[in-house]
Amino acid sequence: MTEQELEEFKTLLEEKRIEIMRDLGLLETRSMNATTADSSGGTIYSDHMPELGSDAIEREKAFMFATRDGVYISQLEDALERIKDGTYGICRVCAKPIPLARLEAVPTTTLCVPCKQAEQDQKQRTA
Ligand SMILES: [Zn+2]
Repeated sequence: MTEQELEEFKTLLEEKRIEIMRDLGLLETRSMNATTADSSGGTIYSDHMPELGSDAIEREKAFMFATRDGVYISQLEDALERIKDGTYGICRVCAKPIPLARLEAVPTTTLCVPCKQAEQDQKQRTA
C-alpha cells in the first residue's frame, strides 16, 4: 500500500469515528457542558463537577462500548493505531497484504478474505 493510500484510509477512519460520535451525541454533549459551566458561574458546579464528571464519563464510556456503535468506534480506533504502527492492511493470521478492494469495503478489517472465511467455518463447526 502506498503512503497516499494509507493517508486516505486514515482520513476515512477518522471521519467515520467523528460521524458516529456525533450520532451518539458525544461531541455535542462536551461542547454544551462547556457553555453551561461558563454561563452558570455558580459554586455548585465547581464543588460537584470533578468527582461526578469522571464517574459519569466512565459510566458513559462503559455504556457506549457496550453498544454496536461503541464496538465500531473501538474497531476504528484500532485501525487508526495500526496505521500508526505500520501494520494496517496486513492480515493478522497469514501476514499477507489485504486487497485494497476489501479494505475499501470494510476499512476496519484485520483479516483477508480466505482467513476470514476460515475463521467463520471454524466458528460454525465449534458452535
Ligand atoms: Zn490472511
